[in-house]
Amino acid sequence: MADRINILPETVANQIAAGEVIQRPASAVKELIENSVDAGSSFIRLIVKDAGKTLIQVIDNGIGMSETDARVCFERHATSKINRAEDLFSLTTKGFRGEALASVAAVAQVELKTRREEDAVGTCILIEGNEVRSQEPCTCPVGTSISIKNLFFNIPARRNFLKSNTVEANHIIEEFQRIALAHPETGFSLHHNGEEIFHLEAGNLRQRITGIFGNNYNERLVPTEEETDIVKITGFVGKPQFARKTRGEQFFFLNKRFIKNSYLNHAVQSAFQQLLPPDSFPSYFLFLDVPPSTIDINIHPTKTEVKFEDDKHIYAILKSTVRMALGKYNISPTIDFEQESTIAFIPPPKGPVAEPVIMVDPTFNPFNTQSSGRQGYSGGSSYSNSVLNKQVPANWDMLYRNHVNQEKGPELIPEEEVSVSSKGFFQLHGRFVICQIKSGLMIIEQQRAHERILYEKFLHNLEQQPAATQKLLFPETITLPVNHSVALNELQQELKDLGFDMQSLGGNSLVVYGVPVLLTDHPIARELERIAEELLTETPGTNARKEKLALSLARTAGIKTGKFLSQEEMSTLIDELFACTMPSVTPAGKPIVHTIRLEEIDRFFRS
Ligand code: ADP
Ligand code: MG
Repeated sequence: MADRINILPETVANQIAAGEVIQRPASAVKELIENSVDAGSSFIRLIVKDAGKTLIQVIDNGIGMSETDARVCFERHATSKINRAEDLFSLTTKGFRGEALASVAAVAQVELKTRREEDAVGTCILIEGNEVRSQEPCTCPVGTSISIKNLFFNIPARRNFLKSNTVEANHIIEEFQRIALAHPETGFSLHHNGEEIFHLEAGNLRQRITGIFGNNYNERLVPTEEETDIVKITGFVGKPQFARKTRGEQFFFLNKRFIKNSYLNHAVQSAFQQLLPPDSFPSYFLFLDVPPSTIDINIHPTKTEVKFEDDKHIYAILKSTVRMALGKYNISPTIDFEQESTIAFIPPPKGPVAEPVIMVDPTFNPFNTQSSGRQGYSGGSSYSNSVLNKQVPANWDMLYRNHVNQEKGPELIPEEEVSVSSKGFFQLHGRFVICQIKSGLMIIEQQRAHERILYEKFLHNLEQQPAATQKLLFPETITLPVNHSVALNELQQELKDLGFDMQSLGGNSLVVYGVPVLLTDHPIARELERIAEELLTETPGTNARKEKLALSLARTAGIKTGKFLSQEEMSTLIDELFACTMPSVTPAGKPIVHTIRLEEIDRFFRS
């Protein structure tokens, strides 16, 4: 039998290696910018088109490369950063594996222009799928410019695997922010599709944080510092009252390299104990410096996890440092969290609130399945946000039929038996609406019911008929985190269909002229941030996107558990629920309605 083992050709080997190092445009961005940082640049420009799918260009003013280095740097294991294995234990640079450029060159069309200070002319190289197409002298400034075009052009499977532009752009912004935060002493800018979305001058960490997240972060930051033999800690934690509902702004940098570490995160989170509203996450920007020999540097370039000796001690030091910082700035547990509370989403009704009244319908005839008596009701408070449309037909039996079909299978009740008594509704513990039906009683979960109603309304707005806009008396200018405003930009049409009337002011600001009628009582900036946040965790596919958008708004605008409902509100809620296409379950598949048959109740009392 012939020998079977082949040595893989260089190009194939590089493509395989590239799969690990370059997973998406953001990984190429990270590698390029880190090289520019290692090259001692004082300003680094990142230019991206189509979320990096068409172009990623990094221009720096660092030390540049010689003519030979410019060619060699694309070879695998080509690095100027270590010479000997021992160097690994004293690493202060970002790179050392010499894999990044070789990987990028294996899966894209690359153009490199570079010049050192001592050279009169620079050199320009074109490489495609690892093959040098040309190399010639060129005039260019001192430093290096690398353009990566059509990433994964030769691996269609990988290219197809990329997510939507929104998601990929967000990954790029994330990488950019991490490196920019790690290096405030270096200036950075980011252009996406011709628009400058970041321009960060060199400065200190505080300036860098406000440059990225907005000037209002200035007052939110609590300096956090400590120096011991095993670790030096510097940076900031966010004041507890600005804690977020998602984990967005949590940054650890270990020796100036962004890392994720749930153990250390726990240390910070526990330092905030009793200072945070439930389900919220403190912001932090913390730099840990340890001797390079005490960490496992042999980490994979794309991985952000890291192992280090002494993690127990570092945990303890970190926790007490953060505690002390919070204490020093007088942040005591008496802080008032009212404004962050979730229940506060529903403001009290505007105008006078009518007292609850018990209503009796004198025309009610239990044998009449049309049961239209309820429509004459008036009085009681109306929904604070006038959510419910009072003209919806009362097709109760439809709901009930669906429900019975789903829950009980073949055990169907004759239609004429299914009719709701209009003897009024009863609200139980601010959570359930209970009413009598022919065969027994029906319990409806109010928050879920309203979520279903609004979800279908918003979806209708997105798919068929755009919603009405409520013009704001005073247009509101909003500044959002950059990744959020980029995401919202991609959603212009959908937001318009939902009733938002707004215009980008360039950068990450926008002005809102009108909002969906159903959302007039909600803080706009926060709502837009929530929408963006949810969409950024989205997988592509237009339909899914619309559903997610509808659900996000429905959850915000919906009435909540604990809200008192008048008879009229309960009646309208139930009418509208019946008018839905799927009244018995929430969009997430949770039950909304439960019925208890008279026989079941009877059985209780039989003995
Ligand atoms: P590594 O960064 O691990 O050394 P890379 O493949 O990223 O490997 O880069 C290979 C080499 O190319 C680097 O070691 C460096 O000498 C050189 N290089 C890459 N980018 C730049 C740059 N922007 N400026 C100067 N030299 C660079
Ligand atoms: Mg590198």
